[in-house]
Amino acid sequence: MLITIENLSLHPKTNDKMNNVRVRFAPSPTGPLHIGGIRTALFNYLFAKKYKGTFILRIEDTDQTRYVANAEQYIIDALNWCNIPFEEGPGKNEKFGPYRQSERKHIYKQYVEKLIENGKAYYAFDTNEELDFHRVDHEEKGKTFIYNWHNRAKLTNSISLSKEEVAKKLANGDKYVVRFKMHEPNIEETEATIKTVDMIRGDVSFRKDILDDKILFKSDGMPTYHLANIVDDHLMEITHVIRGEEWLPSLPLHIALYDAFGWKAPEFAHLPLILKPVGKGKLSKRDGDKLGFPVFPLAYKNEETGEISRGYREDGYFSDAFINMLALLGWNPGTEQEIFSLAQLCDAFTIERVSKSGAKFSPDKTNWFNQQYMLLKSDEELASLYMTILAEKDIKKDKEFVIKVVSLIKERATFVTDFWDLSNFFFEAPTTYNEKAVKKQWKEDTAELMKELIGIIESVEDFNSLNFETKVKEWITAKEIGFGKVMQPFRLSLVGELKGPHLFDIAEMIGKEETINRINKAIHAL
Ligand code: GLU
Repeated sequence: MLITIENLSLHPKTNDKMNNVRVRFAPSPTGPLHIGGIRTALFNYLFAKKYKGTFILRIEDTDQTRYVANAEQYIIDALNWCNIPFEEGPGKNEKFGPYRQSERKHIYKQYVEKLIENGKAYYAFDTNEELDFHRVDHEEKGKTFIYNWHNRAKLTNSISLSKEEVAKKLANGDKYVVRFKMHEPNIEETEATIKTVDMIRGDVSFRKDILDDKILFKSDGMPTYHLANIVDDHLMEITHVIRGEEWLPSLPLHIALYDAFGWKAPEFAHLPLILKPVGKGKLSKRDGDKLGFPVFPLAYKNEETGEISRGYREDGYFSDAFINMLALLGWNPGTEQEIFSLAQLCDAFTIERVSKSGAKFSPDKTNWFNQQYMLLKSDEELASLYMTILAEKDIKKDKEFVIKVVSLIKERATFVTDFWDLSNFFFEAPTTYNEKAVKKQWKEDTAELMKELIGIIESVEDFNSLNFETKVKEWITAKEIGFGKVMQPFRLSLVGELKGPHLFDIAEMIGKEETINRINKAIHAL
């Protein structure tokens, strides 16, 4: 039998446990969301929708040194713009709230105390200076200092100190951290590996004895990411943790923590990295700056430095095109289909089709998606968008007219912001004429020909594109001159350049009088 992804079934547990799916997007509000972050949010959203579950937003703001005030609002705005709003989170359906970790401080302490009580965690009083000393000392000997089962009995903590000494230190208000007892060789000699199943990667195992005793809690009353993350996922009844690959190294610790608490761990899926357009490595903001594309969904102003970063929204991308592009970064439907509406994505998405290897980001492909969505959108919708740009230029035209313009030019545009360059001549007469084109196309006898053309125009009674074109063609054929001899200077007169849609369509749109005016203007100017 041919083994395909479908019948391989990497994660039997997920197949029969898709009732009441609860997934969370858990960003740290340290700045704007990167493309990778919004892709993580999207895959969580699609997974939730696919199984009629709940998509939750939790703000992981325990690291106050990296906290940025406007970042949470940015995250919410970005989800909304992408049309993937959270259903439960800060200020919305708060049944497991609060959803900001800084507002849950009181919760974590009791859990860390439980771990200390049952011997799974311990107080450590080592100062930074002492730890630095050990690090340097190890380096000098060509070793790496890892705080774990090797040396914990020799360091300053509640394992090496007597109960009385510990109590004294705590009563004294000495600074401490609480560390997790990752590995205990005496008790678990045969269990020095942590094995689990990742929904994307299949079986994964980690050696426990080389991991460090991670800090879970600090004397300032704040938990670290690891403790808060596990406690909250448990209390919020999260069933599936879908997050970036960079968290894979934390997985053994998280599994061990669930174990230490005696809780059932959720299922895990670690999404592949988004790679640079050229070569290897994680896509960074610098790649965007270098190659001229945004790496953030929305523009972002850094309040400290004043620096403004570009965003897909402000750069004129359609959010549905953006989402479609993101969905295919690391996921594929198994068919050739590339264009998916959000509803189709919700239907087609499966975690089994997310790849293990990194997904290369392509700015060109992103633009291609935008073009495709441009063609899918109705002229009416595009006209509404264009009318805001026209209004900024103080141009007032009725919607019917703008709809017609859009229908004539949209195939040539990638963004609505391209419309003006492609269509300004529908709204105003050219003020300059392309020099090169004039040199080549405006000959000695051109003015005479243009005057004759005006005569033809005047003779067309029902001035529409087809009638006008027929008349002009008859005239040119009778005169036995080249078509270009008339058409190129005529185009220069109406457009100012040798570009634009069908010329007779332009003439019909701007009307008989304006067409004549523009030709006269060109005769004078050239
Ligand atoms: N707060 C982590 C982040 O910023 C969340 C990681 C996770 O989903 O467990 O990505």
